[in-house]
Amino acid sequence: MSVANAEHKDPILLTPGPLTTSLQTKQAMLRDWGSWDGDFNQITTRVRQHLLEIAHAGETHECVPLQGSGTFSVEAAIGTIVPRDGHVLVPMNGAYCQRIARICEYLGRRVSTHSYAEDQAISTSDIDRLLSADPSITHVAIVHCETSTGILNPLQDIAKVVAKHGKGLIIDAMSSFGAIEVDARVTPFDALVAASGKCIEGVPGMGFVLARRSVLEQCKGNAHSLALDLYDQWVYMQKTTQWRFTPPTHVVAALDQALQQYRAEGGLAARGARYAANCKQLIDGLAALGLRSFLPKEIQAPIIVTVHAPQHANYNFQAFYNAVKRQGFILYPGKLTTVETFRVGCMGHFGDEGMRGAIAAIANVLEEMQIATAVAA
Ligand SMILES: *Cc1c(COP(=O)(O)O)cnc(C)c1O
Repeated sequence: MSVANAEHKDPILLTPGPLTTSLQTKQAMLRDWGSWDGDFNQITTRVRQHLLEIAHAGETHECVPLQGSGTFSVEAAIGTIVPRDGHVLVPMNGAYCQRIARICEYLGRRVSTHSYAEDQAISTSDIDRLLSADPSITHVAIVHCETSTGILNPLQDIAKVVAKHGKGLIIDAMSSFGAIEVDARVTPFDALVAASGKCIEGVPGMGFVLARRSVLEQCKGNAHSLALDLYDQWVYMQKTTQWRFTPPTHVVAALDQALQQYRAEGGLAARGARYAANCKQLIDGLAALGLRSFLPKEIQAPIIVTVHAPQHANYNFQAFYNAVKRQGFILYPGKLTTVETFRVGCMGHFGDEGMRGAIAAIANVLEEMQIATAVAA
C-alpha cells in the first residue's frame, strides 16, 4: 500500500534531470555509509565498472567519478584532459555547447567556436574543414544530445573525422549516455562525460568521466583546480579504492541500485527503446492537440522535445506550468532566444501510462485555459 502511494504521490518530472526515479532507487538512500568502509568502496568500484561496460570501454578507458552536478565533471574533463597550451574547437548549436566554450575561457584554454542555428545539427564536413584549416587545434569538444533543444548531433561521424586528424575528442554525453549508444570500440574519444541523475535514472550529485587510459596517464599537472583534478582523483582511487574527498555516499548507493535496474530492464537497448516510445507518443499526442514540435524528426533525440508554445493570448508559461503541475506533471521551460517554446522530457522512470497521463493533463489544461489549438480534422 505505502509502496504504491509513495510511487504516485510525487509528480512525474518531465524534465532532463533531476528526473523521476524508481522507489527502489530512492530506498537505496535510506542507509548511511562510511567513506572508508570497504562495503561502500566496493559499491564505488562496481559502479565505475558498470559505467565503463555501458560504453564497451573497459579495455581502453577509466571511469573517474566526481562529486557535484554534471557541469563540474565537464569542467574537470576539460581542465584535466586539455593541456594548458591546448586549443579547443567547440561547434555550437545550443546552450550546453556555449557552456563548454565558457568553461574553456574561464580555464584559460584557447577556444574557437563554430555556430549553427538552434535547429541545425553539427556538420561533420565543417569539422573536417576547420581542423584542416587550423592545425593548432588540439581537441574538439561536442555535446551529443543538445538538451537545450533536443538535437542529436552526429557523434559517430564526428568522432571518425576527429580521429582522422589525430585530435582529441571530448563528449558531453550527459543527456544521452545510457539511452543512445556510444561504443568506445568504434567511436574513438578521449573523454566522455555524463552524470548520475540523467538516463541511468539515479539521483543527481555525481558526475563521471570515461577517460582514455593512455591519455589520462599523461594528464598530471594539467588541472588548474585541486578539487576538479581528475588525474589526482583517479590516482587516489586506484591506490585506495576510496574517493579523494567526501563522497556523495547516498547518491552512489542510489546509482548502484539504478544501474541494477538498468541491467534488469535490458540495458541500453531497452532504455533507449522506452525513451523512443515515450518521445513518439509525446510528439504524436501533442500534434493531435495542435502543438508542434520545434525540431525536424531526423535530428530529434528521443530525450527531450521542444514544443512551440500555443499562439494564443491566454497562454503564458507560468500559468500553464502551474495548471499542469496540479495534475501531477512537471514541465520544463523553453530555452530558445527567438521563438517561445516549452520542453517536455522523455527520460525518467515512466513509460506509456505516464506519458498518456501527461498528454491528457496538457489537453485538460489547454481546455481549462480556453486555448483552442486542436487541429480541425
Ligand atoms: C544536464 C546537462 C549538463 C549538466 O548540467 P548540470 O546542471 O550541471 O547537471 C551538461 N550538459 C548537458 C547536455 C546536459 O543535459
